[in-house]
Amino acid sequence: MTVFDCSIHTHADLCDGKEPLSAMAAGAYAAGVQYYGVSCHSHTPLPLDVGAVLPADMTAYRAAILKERERYEGCMEVLMGLEWDSQSDVSPEGFDYWIASAHYQKADNGKCYCADWGEDHFHRCREEAWGGEALAVTEGYFREVARIAALKPTILGHFDLITKHNGGGLLFDESHPRYRKAAIEALHAADPRETLLEINTGGMARGYRTAPYPALFILKEWKTMGGRIILTSDAHNADKILYGYQDAAKLARAAGFTKASILTLEGEKEADL
Ligand SMILES: [Zn+2]
Ligand SMILES: [Zn+2]
Repeated sequence: MTVFDCSIHTHADLCDGKEPLSAMAAGAYAAGVQYYGVSCHSHTPLPLDVGAVLPADMTAYRAAILKERERYEGCMEVLMGLEWDSQSDVSPEGFDYWIASAHYQKADNGKCYCADWGEDHFHRCREEAWGGEALAVTEGYFREVARIAALKPTILGHFDLITKHNGGGLLFDESHPRYRKAAIEALHAADPRETLLEINTGGMARGYRTAPYPALFILKEWKTMGGRIILTSDAHNADKILYGYQDAAKLARAAGFTKASILTLEGEKEADL
Protein backbone atom coordinates (compact mmCIF):
# COMPACT_ATOMS: atom_id res chain seq x y z
CA MET A 1 0.00 0.00 0.00
CA THR A 2 1.41 3.42 -0.94
CA VAL A 3 0.20 6.99 -0.81
CA PHE A 4 -0.51 6.75 -4.56
CA ASP A 5 -3.31 4.29 -3.81
CA CYS A 6 -5.53 6.97 -2.32
CA SER A 7 -7.12 10.17 -3.61
CA ILE A 8 -10.00 11.45 -1.53
CA HIS A 9 -10.16 15.21 -2.11
CA THR A 10 -11.87 15.34 -5.51
CA HIS A 11 -14.72 17.22 -7.11
CA ALA A 12 -17.15 16.51 -9.97
CA ASP A 13 -19.66 18.53 -11.95
CA LEU A 14 -22.15 18.04 -9.12
CA CYS A 15 -20.32 21.10 -7.75
CA ASP A 16 -17.54 23.02 -9.52
CA GLY A 17 -15.68 19.99 -10.89
CA LYS A 18 -15.19 19.96 -14.63
CA GLU A 19 -16.34 16.41 -15.35
CA PRO A 20 -19.16 14.04 -14.41
CA LEU A 21 -18.69 11.78 -11.40
CA SER A 22 -18.52 8.70 -13.66
CA ALA A 23 -15.57 10.25 -15.56
CA MET A 24 -13.79 11.19 -12.34
CA ALA A 25 -14.20 7.66 -10.98
CA ALA A 26 -12.94 6.23 -14.28
CA GLY A 27 -9.95 8.58 -14.09
CA ALA A 28 -9.16 7.41 -10.56
CA TYR A 29 -9.39 3.77 -11.58
CA ALA A 30 -7.22 4.34 -14.66
CA ALA A 31 -4.60 6.04 -12.43
CA GLY A 32 -4.42 2.89 -10.30
CA VAL A 33 -6.14 4.41 -7.27
CA GLN A 34 -7.64 1.86 -4.89
CA TYR A 35 -9.32 4.29 -2.50
CA TYR A 36 -11.15 7.06 -4.32
CA GLY A 37 -13.18 9.59 -2.37
CA VAL A 38 -15.67 12.17 -3.65
CA SER A 39 -15.72 15.47 -1.74
CA CYS A 40 -17.95 18.00 -3.47
CA HIS A 41 -18.48 21.46 -1.96
CA SER A 42 -21.22 21.73 0.65
CA HIS A 43 -24.09 24.17 0.26
CA THR A 44 -22.98 27.64 1.35
CA PRO A 45 -25.51 30.50 1.38
CA LEU A 46 -23.53 33.68 0.89
CA PRO A 47 -24.56 36.97 -0.70
CA LEU A 48 -21.66 36.67 -3.14
CA ASP A 49 -20.77 34.35 -5.98
CA VAL A 50 -19.67 31.14 -4.29
CA GLY A 51 -19.34 29.16 -7.52
CA ALA A 52 -21.14 25.84 -7.96
CA VAL A 53 -21.89 23.97 -4.74
CA LEU A 54 -24.17 21.05 -3.84
CA PRO A 55 -27.82 21.73 -3.00
CA ALA A 56 -28.66 21.69 0.73
CA ASP A 57 -30.51 18.40 0.15
CA MET A 58 -27.69 15.95 -0.59
CA THR A 59 -29.86 12.89 -1.28
CA ALA A 60 -29.01 12.81 -5.00
CA TYR A 61 -25.32 13.39 -4.24
CA ARG A 62 -25.21 10.43 -1.90
CA ALA A 63 -27.07 8.23 -4.40
CA ALA A 64 -24.67 9.19 -7.21
CA ILE A 65 -21.67 8.17 -5.09
CA LEU A 66 -23.28 4.88 -4.04
CA LYS A 67 -23.88 4.10 -7.71
CA GLU A 68 -20.14 4.45 -8.39
CA ARG A 69 -19.34 2.40 -5.29
CA GLU A 70 -21.45 -0.40 -6.71
CA ARG A 71 -19.94 -0.07 -10.19
CA TYR A 72 -16.38 -0.48 -8.86
CA GLU A 73 -17.09 -3.07 -6.19
CA GLY A 74 -14.14 -5.45 -5.87
CA CYS A 75 -11.92 -3.15 -8.00
CA MET A 76 -11.73 0.18 -6.18
CA GLU A 77 -13.33 1.52 -3.02
CA VAL A 78 -15.47 4.64 -3.53
CA LEU A 79 -15.76 6.74 -0.37
CA MET A 80 -18.49 9.26 0.32
CA GLY A 81 -17.00 12.53 1.51
CA LEU A 82 -17.83 16.20 1.67
CA GLU A 83 -15.74 19.35 1.50
CA TRP A 84 -17.55 21.35 4.13
CA ASP A 85 -17.08 25.11 3.98
CA SER A 86 -16.71 27.20 7.12
CA GLN A 87 -19.80 29.23 6.12
CA SER A 88 -21.89 26.22 5.11
CA ASP A 89 -25.44 25.75 6.39
CA VAL A 90 -25.53 21.93 6.25
CA SER A 91 -24.25 19.29 8.65
CA PRO A 92 -21.12 17.39 7.65
CA GLU A 93 -22.30 14.35 9.60
CA GLY A 94 -23.20 11.06 7.95
CA PHE A 95 -20.30 10.83 5.51
CA ASP A 96 -17.33 8.47 5.45
CA TYR A 97 -15.19 11.57 6.09
CA TRP A 98 -15.36 15.34 5.80
CA ILE A 99 -12.83 17.97 4.87
CA ALA A 100 -13.23 21.29 6.68
CA SER A 101 -12.16 24.21 4.50
CA ALA A 102 -12.23 27.96 4.90
CA HIS A 103 -12.84 29.48 1.45
CA TYR A 104 -14.10 32.73 3.00
CA GLN A 105 -13.59 34.71 6.13
CA LYS A 106 -16.33 36.44 8.01
CA ALA A 107 -14.68 39.72 9.01
CA ASP A 108 -15.47 41.86 12.05
CA ASN A 109 -17.65 44.10 9.86
CA GLY A 110 -20.00 41.11 9.44
CA LYS A 111 -19.24 40.65 5.73
CA CYS A 112 -17.76 37.57 4.10
CA TYR A 113 -14.77 37.79 1.78
CA CYS A 114 -13.34 35.17 -0.59
CA ALA A 115 -9.94 33.91 0.49
CA ASP A 116 -8.70 32.65 -2.86
CA TRP A 117 -10.54 34.41 -5.65
CA GLY A 118 -7.75 36.81 -6.49
CA GLU A 119 -6.01 40.03 -5.69
CA ASP A 120 -9.16 42.17 -6.04
CA HIS A 121 -10.96 40.19 -3.36
CA PHE A 122 -7.96 40.43 -1.05
CA HIS A 123 -7.76 44.18 -1.54
CA ARG A 124 -11.48 44.65 -0.94
CA CYS A 125 -11.25 42.67 2.31
CA ARG A 126 -8.16 44.60 3.38
CA GLU A 127 -9.71 48.03 2.72
CA GLU A 128 -13.32 47.39 3.81
CA ALA A 129 -12.72 45.21 6.84
CA TRP A 130 -9.19 45.70 8.12
CA GLY A 131 -8.29 49.36 7.63
CA GLY A 132 -5.88 48.65 4.80
CA GLU A 133 -3.76 46.26 6.82
CA ALA A 134 -2.76 43.17 4.85
CA LEU A 135 -1.58 41.12 7.83
CA ALA A 136 -4.93 41.70 9.53
CA VAL A 137 -6.58 39.99 6.56
CA THR A 138 -4.44 36.91 7.16
CA GLU A 139 -5.16 37.00 10.90
CA GLY A 140 -8.88 37.14 10.15
CA TYR A 141 -8.50 34.22 7.78
CA PHE A 142 -6.69 32.07 10.32
CA ARG A 143 -9.33 32.81 12.96
CA GLU A 144 -11.84 31.30 10.55
CA VAL A 145 -9.53 28.28 10.08
CA ALA A 146 -9.11 27.91 13.85
CA ARG A 147 -12.88 27.91 14.32
CA ILE A 148 -13.39 24.94 11.98
CA ALA A 149 -10.25 23.13 13.10
CA ALA A 150 -11.79 23.01 16.58
CA LEU A 151 -14.78 21.08 15.16
CA LYS A 152 -12.49 18.04 14.77
CA PRO A 153 -13.05 17.33 11.06
CA THR A 154 -11.53 14.21 9.49
CA ILE A 155 -9.27 16.45 7.43
CA LEU A 156 -8.34 20.12 7.61
CA GLY A 157 -8.38 21.42 4.02
CA HIS A 158 -5.74 23.57 2.26
CA PHE A 159 -4.71 25.14 5.56
CA ASP A 160 -3.07 28.30 4.13
CA LEU A 161 -5.31 28.89 1.12
CA ILE A 162 -4.94 32.63 1.77
CA THR A 163 -1.46 32.33 0.14
CA LYS A 164 -2.91 31.22 -3.21
CA HIS A 165 -2.32 34.54 -4.97
CA ASN A 166 0.65 35.58 -2.86
CA GLY A 167 3.46 34.40 -5.14
CA GLY A 168 6.57 36.52 -4.50
CA GLY A 169 4.93 38.05 -1.41
CA LEU A 170 2.68 40.17 -3.62
CA LEU A 171 -0.04 40.66 -1.01
CA PHE A 172 1.66 40.08 2.36
CA ASP A 173 4.86 38.84 3.98
CA GLU A 174 4.61 35.13 4.82
CA SER A 175 7.72 35.31 7.00
CA HIS A 176 6.32 38.12 9.19
CA PRO A 177 5.99 37.08 12.85
CA ARG A 178 2.35 38.16 12.91
CA TYR A 179 1.52 35.96 9.93
CA ARG A 180 3.37 32.99 11.40
CA LYS A 181 1.78 33.43 14.82
CA ALA A 182 -1.73 33.52 13.33
CA ALA A 183 -1.06 30.35 11.30
CA ILE A 184 0.46 28.44 14.22
CA GLU A 185 -2.37 29.44 16.57
CA ALA A 186 -4.92 28.13 14.07
CA LEU A 187 -2.97 24.89 13.76
CA HIS A 188 -3.04 24.44 17.53
CA ALA A 189 -6.83 24.66 17.44
CA ALA A 190 -6.77 21.30 15.62
CA ASP A 191 -6.61 18.03 17.54
CA PRO A 192 -3.77 15.98 16.02
CA ARG A 193 -5.37 12.75 17.28
CA GLU A 194 -8.68 13.46 15.54
CA THR A 195 -7.80 15.40 12.41
CA LEU A 196 -5.51 14.84 9.43
CA LEU A 197 -3.75 17.79 7.84
CA GLU A 198 -3.76 17.56 4.06
CA ILE A 199 -0.90 18.33 1.72
CA ASN A 200 -2.95 19.64 -1.17
CA THR A 201 -1.60 20.08 -4.72
CA GLY A 202 -4.75 21.67 -6.17
CA GLY A 203 -3.25 25.16 -6.48
CA MET A 204 -0.37 23.68 -8.48
CA ALA A 205 -2.66 21.75 -10.80
CA ARG A 206 -4.51 24.96 -11.65
CA GLY A 207 -1.28 26.92 -12.18
CA TYR A 208 -1.56 29.30 -9.19
CA ARG A 209 1.28 27.89 -7.14
CA THR A 210 4.58 26.08 -7.50
CA ALA A 211 4.31 24.21 -4.19
CA PRO A 212 1.50 22.39 -2.38
CA TYR A 213 -0.41 23.76 0.62
CA PRO A 214 0.62 24.19 3.39
CA ALA A 215 3.98 25.90 3.92
CA LEU A 216 6.87 23.90 5.37
CA PHE A 217 6.87 25.75 8.71
CA ILE A 218 3.25 24.71 9.27
CA LEU A 219 3.97 21.07 8.46
CA LYS A 220 6.98 21.04 10.77
CA GLU A 221 4.86 22.38 13.61
CA TRP A 222 2.20 19.75 12.91
CA LYS A 223 4.89 17.05 13.06
CA THR A 224 6.03 18.41 16.43
CA MET A 225 2.41 18.21 17.61
CA GLY A 226 2.34 14.51 16.67
CA GLY A 227 -0.04 15.15 13.77
CA ARG A 228 -0.72 12.87 10.81
CA ILE A 229 -0.98 13.94 7.18
CA ILE A 230 -2.75 12.88 4.00
CA LEU A 231 -1.84 13.67 0.39
CA THR A 232 -4.59 15.11 -1.79
CA SER A 233 -4.89 16.60 -5.28
CA ASP A 234 -8.18 18.53 -4.90
CA ALA A 235 -8.81 17.28 -8.46
CA HIS A 236 -11.44 19.01 -10.57
CA ASN A 237 -10.45 17.00 -13.68
CA ALA A 238 -10.19 13.24 -14.23
CA ASP A 239 -6.57 13.41 -15.38
CA LYS A 240 -5.49 15.25 -12.22
CA ILE A 241 -6.47 12.63 -9.65
CA LEU A 242 -2.87 12.11 -8.46
CA TYR A 243 -1.47 15.43 -9.67
CA GLY A 244 1.74 16.52 -7.92
CA TYR A 245 1.81 13.65 -5.41
CA GLN A 246 5.60 13.37 -5.83
CA ASP A 247 5.96 17.04 -4.81
CA ALA A 248 3.60 16.54 -1.90
CA ALA A 249 5.57 13.50 -0.69
CA LYS A 250 8.81 15.44 -1.00
CA LEU A 251 7.40 18.29 1.09
CA ALA A 252 6.17 15.81 3.70
CA ARG A 253 9.61 14.20 3.95
CA ALA A 254 11.21 17.64 4.27
CA ALA A 255 9.00 18.23 7.30
CA GLY A 256 10.18 14.95 8.84
CA PHE A 257 7.27 12.67 7.97
CA THR A 258 8.01 9.10 6.83
CA LYS A 259 4.40 7.98 6.54
CA ALA A 260 1.08 9.42 5.44
CA SER A 261 -2.46 8.29 6.10
CA ILE A 262 -4.86 6.94 3.55
CA LEU A 263 -8.61 6.58 3.98
CA THR A 264 -10.45 3.35 3.24
CA LEU A 265 -13.99 2.11 3.85
CA GLU A 266 -12.54 0.25 6.85
CA GLY A 267 -11.03 3.45 8.24
CA GLU A 268 -7.70 5.18 8.23
CA LYS A 269 -4.49 3.29 7.40
CA GLU A 270 -0.85 4.24 7.11
CA ALA A 271 1.30 4.14 3.99
CA ASP A 272 4.99 4.80 3.37
CA LEU A 273 5.92 8.07 1.74
ZN1 LIG B 1 -11.42 23.93 -1.13
ZN1 LIG C 1 -11.60 21.04 -2.90
